[in-house]
Amino acid sequence: MKTTTRVVVIGGGVVGCSVLYHLTKLGWSDVMLLERNELTSGSTWHAAGGFHTLNGDTNMAALQGYTIRLYKELEAITGMSCGLHHVGGVTLADNRDRMDMLVAERAKHRYMGLETEIVTPEEIAKIAPVTNTAGIIGGLYDPLDGHLDPSGTTHAYAKAARMGGATIETHCKVLETNQRPDGTWDVVTNRGTVHAEHVVNAAGLWAREVGAMAGVYFPLHPMEHQYIVTEDVPLILDMAKDGLEHPHVMDPAGESYLRQEGRGLCIGFYEQPCRPWAVDGTPWDFGHELLPDDFDKIEDSIAFAYRRFPALEKAGVKSVIHGPFTFAPDGNPLVGPVPGMRNYWSACAVMAGFSQGGGVGLMLAQWMIEGETERDTFAMDCARFGSWITPGYTRPKVIENYQKRFSVSYPNEELPAARPLRTTPMYDIFDAMGAVWGAQYGLEVPNYFAQDGEPRFETPSFRRSNAWQATAREAQAVRQAVGINEVQNFGKYRVTGANARAWLDRIMAGRVPAPGRLSLTPMLSEKGRLIGDFTISCLAEDQFTLTASYGAQAFHMRWFQRHAEAGVQVENISDRLTGFQIAGPLAKDVLAACTRDNVGALRFMDVARMTIGMVDCVVQRVSYTGDLGYEIYCDPMAQRALWQALWAAGQPMGMRPFGMRAMMSLRLDKFFGSWGREFSPDYTPAETGMDRFIAWKKPAHFIGRTAAEAERAQGPARQLVTFEVDAQDADVVAYEPIWMGEKVIGFCTSGGYSHHAGKSIAYGFVPSDQLRDDLQVEIEVLGQRLPARRITTALFDADGARMRG
Ligand SMILES: Cc1cc2nc3c(=O)[nH]c(=O)nc-3n(C[C@H](O)[C@H](O)[C@H](O)COP(=O)(O)OP(=O)(O)OC[C@H]3O[C@@H](n4cnc5c(N)ncnc54)[C@H](O)[C@@H]3O)c2cc1C
Repeated sequence: MKTTTRVVVIGGGVVGCSVLYHLTKLGWSDVMLLERNELTSGSTWHAAGGFHTLNGDTNMAALQGYTIRLYKELEAITGMSCGLHHVGGVTLADNRDRMDMLVAERAKHRYMGLETEIVTPEEIAKIAPVTNTAGIIGGLYDPLDGHLDPSGTTHAYAKAARMGGATIETHCKVLETNQRPDGTWDVVTNRGTVHAEHVVNAAGLWAREVGAMAGVYFPLHPMEHQYIVTEDVPLILDMAKDGLEHPHVMDPAGESYLRQEGRGLCIGFYEQPCRPWAVDGTPWDFGHELLPDDFDKIEDSIAFAYRRFPALEKAGVKSVIHGPFTFAPDGNPLVGPVPGMRNYWSACAVMAGFSQGGGVGLMLAQWMIEGETERDTFAMDCARFGSWITPGYTRPKVIENYQKRFSVSYPNEELPAARPLRTTPMYDIFDAMGAVWGAQYGLEVPNYFAQDGEPRFETPSFRRSNAWQATAREAQAVRQAVGINEVQNFGKYRVTGANARAWLDRIMAGRVPAPGRLSLTPMLSEKGRLIGDFTISCLAEDQFTLTASYGAQAFHMRWFQRHAEAGVQVENISDRLTGFQIAGPLAKDVLAACTRDNVGALRFMDVARMTIGMVDCVVQRVSYTGDLGYEIYCDPMAQRALWQALWAAGQPMGMRPFGMRAMMSLRLDKFFGSWGREFSPDYTPAETGMDRFIAWKKPAHFIGRTAAEAERAQGPARQLVTFEVDAQDADVVAYEPIWMGEKVIGFCTSGGYSHHAGKSIAYGFVPSDQLRDDLQVEIEVLGQRLPARRITTALFDADGARMRG
């Protein structure tokens, strides 16, 4: 066995083999996979082998599309069969919300180049004749759906990797992973030690145990899962005589997926009485074995399936497959460089290895070899969870995710499991004031405040929800008087040291402010993509605070650590600094009423220390509401005292608390973008208008400069613009297609309703050569093409007089 290699991939399931293949495909041939048993010995061998593109996250859906198209390539390279059955599949809808969701998915697929189709119950009866369509109102047909041979496919990946120079060692169990001071790894196995530059954890069912060898907690959990294969079914036999295969049918109402297997059927369930498996750790002696059949657990699901697919009831059971596989708390994979570690990579929690494994392998290989991925991978980035995550959180979230696998997922939905976990000192005060809570990165954040008699629960919906009135009230309070909310859910970083300014000049593309001032800046990757959208605050020549998205903390810290330099310290102080923002025409008066410091001297984009009430604060004169406003930061221990001062001063002036729903409405008035929507690694500064914050004249060679300058010289191919939409009861959420005549020319990044202007607003990308001030388009919202007009003047305070005043 080789004793040195560039990469050790731990785990020979479909994911590890895909990672190995993609490393060779992208040019690294000195790579090695270690498997404790035979290939496929984890979840992989007993998978049902189904694949599909449907995924709520657009980038995940695109990667699933990549995975599916890859199988033909693998077959061509290796001469092996993946046992492909491209039979197509239909997802059923039995209510309007489900249909809304499918129609919205179909709309997204238009610009993704996926040829899905909305079908009627009559068409479903023809396409998928085992289905009883009573109660079905429609469905989504995807010609790319199908299934394959899990073992054959894994071995095809492995052969393709070997052909690219990779080595695979089976019956080689990793016992320890020990890091050397230079960042390389000693991977200790039962057959000796391998010295590797990088380690990839692709250990599937054992990913938790393998992670623990390096001191890392991977937030994933195995769940039991069961599918049944029937004896021959007459209808399938008849179809076979005509050379036809039955397509897949996903029946969300029955939480089941069904497909043809041989001349019978195969049906699997995501049952409500589901069970986590191996709660305290996956046994090392678990191998090619199954869990005992458990029909009790799926009794209700089977009864439902008999009504939906009557042929099942008459078919004998040929076999039952009951096995475990792993999930992360939100059901997406955990991929990428593990935060806080050097040269340690994750390729775990892939719950749909045959839909996602190819995309996971490609993204990871790009990350390792090219330093970044070609698209935004945040939905599967292991940095989307922070150090607050524990097994006690993961388990209920994974159970919830399993149970909701086939539920309609609404854009405004807040999932209840494992909450509240992290709360600020304001939690009980806001709760008593009627807060309707949302969760961000484990933190409870008020979405809005219900008044007496209003429900304390936002109805999940694709249309305008019951939060409408409360959001309108709060937005008006800000525009007409003054509103207050917390700044806890901002990511915050302290950057200090003699080299701090020079470092920031290299890391950030924008201007680094002088002492006492703030600046806004994009942060770019080497390839000039947006990886951050920061406010820099300079308190002293060697002391800065950065603020950005709360959910991107581990993502941003990983980048800062990767670019660490002597003479500069970067600390994540997101939860060590809290406070409030106040905004609205009376915000200045409120602040002046509770401090003896000179509020009037604080100009727009200034920062200063002030004593507010009894509390030592840092006050920044800026507000994401686009109004006259202040962000007031303090020690969490003093947050309640700060609240008392501001709230008491605010009462005579009509102060109201406002939540995230109002904040996201108010930003629309000023065309402000938001992280993860308008700003993400999928986009560039010139495309999004963030180039206006780039300090082109600064001498520093900031990261991404070369790419940004090249784009500037050439001009972007598409640009982000704002539209007013003729919407009735549903606003743009994200990824709705933008039509010009009969052609889709772009897509939306986000939108919503401006309660200040009384208009439905959408942001979206259109090709630069189609840009005109009077551009008229149609935006498809829930299947309806709505007229939309470009707007170029802000809906509130267009000249900035109030904001700066
Ligand atoms: C009943 C059932 C049906 C399913 N149906 C589908 C389906 O239709 N479509 C679909 O896409 N997915 C399906 N899945 C999910 C699918 O099986 C998984 O997504 C996939 O197998 C995950 O692959 P993996 O490589 O990540 O993990 P695994 O297959 O668990 O592989 C991990 C490997 O790592 C090895 N390993 C672990 N620790 C060590 C160590 N210390 N040293 C060396 N090697 C180690 C293990 O032996 C194992 O081979 C199903 C799962 C189940 C249980």
